[in-house]
Amino acid sequence: MEKPISLEQYVVVENYINSLSYNTKITISKAAQQLRLDDSLTGNLLAALVDIGVLQYGFVIRCPECSLLLKTAEDIANIEHETYCYGCDEIIQIEPSDIEVIYTLFNCPFQQGQQNDKKPALVTSAVHKIDSLAHLISLGKVNINTEFFAPTDSEWEELYEGYSNIFTSKSTTTKTGYTLEKLTMDLFDKCKHFCVTGGLRISSDGNYTSQIDCYVRNTLYNPVVSLIGDVDSFVIECKNETRTPRGEYMKKLRSDMLDTGKHFGIIISKCKAPRTFVSLSNKIFLNSKITIIWMDSEDLMNIIIHKQNLLEMLARKIEEVRLTATKDLRALGLYDC
Ligand SMILES: [Zn+2]
Repeated sequence: MEKPISLEQYVVVENYINSLSYNTKITISKAAQQLRLDDSLTGNLLAALVDIGVLQYGFVIRCPECSLLLKTAEDIANIEHETYCYGCDEIIQIEPSDIEVIYTLFNCPFQQGQQNDKKPALVTSAVHKIDSLAHLISLGKVNINTEFFAPTDSEWEELYEGYSNIFTSKSTTTKTGYTLEKLTMDLFDKCKHFCVTGGLRISSDGNYTSQIDCYVRNTLYNPVVSLIGDVDSFVIECKNETRTPRGEYMKKLRSDMLDTGKHFGIIISKCKAPRTFVSLSNKIFLNSKITIIWMDSEDLMNIIIHKQNLLEMLARKIEEVRLTATKDLRALGLYDC
């Protein structure tokens, strides 16, 4: 917390927590009003109480058009990108500003006194800006990347096995080729909001043109996708060669993407990405609004061996391409991985 609270304020907060029941749902704006503290201090207090396990987050999704309560979720990774609203009778796209963050009691450290609020007190108006998930993300209180990409120990092991497999020679090139494709599918499948399909044939005007190794559909609300643009799916090409390829791969992927109307693609390769890649990709972005990023074996190693966050890496690489970063964004302290 940036600012310590006074003893007097501490007592007020303790009494307040003590008065909550396990059914009470509070928001920053509501708590600020009841505690008579300012919004920013209240936001910090509630976040600190979540950190030490006294409170827990919950999420209430409201229709941005009619404010109708559409859904509640305990986990950000359970919030779908699109939801049907009965009030509006249509499918609604959910943005972080439509998601209200609520706090409920998780584990009260104080002696529970009289709880004066037994019934859930859900707000019925539109989401107050300071109560929105968008606000919490902007303050850095919630790291959405670690919510969506959090493999379990056994999943990490599975990824490690897949990673070792891509360097083990197989009897045929097709079999060797498939190891990288399988690892890629397993890796993206670990993100809670992605559905991965392999070996998709794409055609233009009904004629078969080529095959895309992996096709990823985004099913939930996800800020990485908002960086990419208004897309709900993207494509991945896996390159198994051990020599650094030339720019042809990018040209081919770009033309496949133009044919299918996709705006975001990833090349994953066993060898190092070409040094000219970022500037080439930036030209493609400026000419056709298509973003192509490259992940090579070093990137895979950083994720699988050093357990870096895949989504954080995607976001960094997208920005590098858009900005034609001449310096690694990690060196500038903008990204962790
Ligand atoms: Zn509605």
